Amino acid sequence: MDPALEAFLQQASGLLCRWLGEAGHGTPLPGLSVLPVVEPERHGLPSARLLADLQLVMEGAYNPNHPGALAHLDPPPLSASIVADLVCAGLNNNLLAEELSPSLSRLERALCGWMAQRLGLPDGAGGVAASGGSLSNLMALVTARRSRGLACRGDAVVVCSEEAHVSLNKAVAVMGLPAEALVQVRVDADGAVDPQALEACLARLERSGRPVIAVVATAGTTVRGALDPLEPMAELCRRHGHWLHVDGAIGAVFAFSERHQAGLASLGRADSITVNPQKLLGITKTSSLLLLADPLQLQQAFSTGLPYMEPSWGGGHQGEAGLQGSRPGEILKLWLGLRQLGLDGITSLIDAAVDRRVELERRLRAIGGLVLCGGPLHLIAFRPEGIDGPAAERWSAATRQRLLEEELMLSRPLYRGHHHLKAVLGNPHTGPEQLERLARVVQRSLLELAGA
Ligand SMILES: *Cc1c(COP(=O)(O)O)cnc(C)c1O
Repeated sequence: MDPALEAFLQQASGLLCRWLGEAGHGTPLPGLSVLPVVEPERHGLPSARLLADLQLVMEGAYNPNHPGALAHLDPPPLSASIVADLVCAGLNNNLLAEELSPSLSRLERALCGWMAQRLGLPDGAGGVAASGGSLSNLMALVTARRSRGLACRGDAVVVCSEEAHVSLNKAVAVMGLPAEALVQVRVDADGAVDPQALEACLARLERSGRPVIAVVATAGTTVRGALDPLEPMAELCRRHGHWLHVDGAIGAVFAFSERHQAGLASLGRADSITVNPQKLLGITKTSSLLLLADPLQLQQAFSTGLPYMEPSWGGGHQGEAGLQGSRPGEILKLWLGLRQLGLDGITSLIDAAVDRRVELERRLRAIGGLVLCGGPLHLIAFRPEGIDGPAAERWSAATRQRLLEEELMLSRPLYRGHHHLKAVLGNPHTGPEQLERLARVVQRSLLELAGA
């Protein structure tokens, strides 16, 4: 046992516990803080100095634990996830190859298999952990393209909705395709794909001879949490023989809740699914999984052979089942976090988040004069009725500032040509008090707009 290491860890965890414990004070978004010295000095520093410098960085950090932190999909971390992240760093294993992470590689394969089954994918389904949903989406599309024999077709397209996530634009760029290769289908008033528009789009592509890499359904759009209609989209994909990827970075976990899984019944018909446990479940970043009905396809897309490694004694090295080479055992914090929550804990986290959204929506509706853009999940965006783009930009900026002064942080997405205020209700520390205050500030800000 190394007493210096033990003392260092204890002091660091003391700092962290104090920081977390003071989460209710101050605001979610601190003002500018002092940045410690950036470059290493000639001689290494003792742990006391390192901790003092760490404290400075912590003082300037965004605070997801504050009950008013409602801006983004970045919830407070689960304690088991923090602990597993620390242990993971201590183990410093590498998911590249089995001999560098014997237990973690098995854990990742097993947990991906379990998650895939829970989401309805068939027996034998599985996948890999990835450092974020952007990477999961990219790997899904590369795999789909290879499975369709389209790797050399410069005219191939990816079809998604006009409200799909920007990571798809990046994926298309990385895949060497022009920006127009992302074909965006119209959505309905609720922000979900219109299946008729999709059908017409697929027919048009077929007539013009443009091959389709994949159709992407978004389960939970980023601004309002809309769910694309999975059942008709899966049916269209079956008829046309297209790969269906579900970007469930936000919404896939709602399949764990009996109350809120309605729109997700057909998740299991997907060829691939992106899930981001970091976005609602409190797994520390990054935590994303790419799950496939047939995980062998992932290996076929990315396997190169690892001539400098002993052969895998499982189903193949995890480093060959994806784009990343060396990577940490991110699965550890997901596994421990899910075990800490339990199935009931997962469900109640989801249900409570939706309840808070319903409650806020009720309060905002009662105020009147607002355009509300919501969905079935835990996100809602809004803006005043009857104002133009520049006025919406001014109102949202002024109101966001006023909310921050009241210790409430919302985000300000540009959506359908207007700036909105957006609340994400995934923070378990948020209670009726914050929601009431939020509605009060918005109401006051609306009255001033009417008076101006
Ligand atoms: C956040 C998000 C992503 C990207 O996930 P990252 O972990 O930020 O890379 C992809 N799709 C949707 C719908 C998202 O909300």
